[in-house]
Amino acid sequence: MAFKLPDLPYAYNALEPYIDEETMKLHHDKHHAAYVDNLNKALEGQPELMQMPIEELLANLDKVEEGKKQAVINHGGGHANHSLFWVTMRPFDSAQGGPTGKLLDAIGTAFGSFETFKEKFTEKAMGIFGSGWAFLQIDDGKLSLKRHSFQNSPLMHGKVPLLGLDVWEHSYYLKYQNRRAEYIEAWWHVVNWQQVAENFKKV
Ligand code: MN
Repeated sequence: MAFKLPDLPYAYNALEPYIDEETMKLHHDKHHAAYVDNLNKALEGQPELMQMPIEELLANLDKVEEGKKQAVINHGGGHANHSLFWVTMRPFDSAQGGPTGKLLDAIGTAFGSFETFKEKFTEKAMGIFGSGWAFLQIDDGKLSLKRHSFQNSPLMHGKVPLLGLDVWEHSYYLKYQNRRAEYIEAWWHVVNWQQVAENFKKV
């Protein structure tokens, strides 16, 4: 038993024209695959940790051998973050709209409105210097925004990420080059709000 690369829940070209096929292939088959391989390598001496769901492993980093901890943070975080990233995207559907129901209510309570939430999330993602992620997370029962550098995950800090946006250049450079703002604007079209609502319900 070892960690495995999950399949994409849609075709490589399903997020076109917002996220291009070539980027999805490289991002999933090469980048995410490498995080999984390197995570398994880092855990070679501790097979019992390979049985844990990734969420549990990241919440229990104290069980990882000291010399392997940073590798598990980097690659385990990378595995968890990308696994979330794929499922919280879906092909664009003009009928989908934004969040609804309890999730929309909670966004309203935390940020004032969905529009304000989008602005603030975008600001967070734009403000990341270098490689990292912007997250919508649950912290002590409340929604909040958080940015993390590299592959750090809210799971390492006892928070639950509901939605994450990868702003490493590998996630957009082929299509958008240095234009991160355009990538983020495009990404909003393919957010899977149904999945975000399910993540919210589980917490
Ligand atoms: Mn990535």
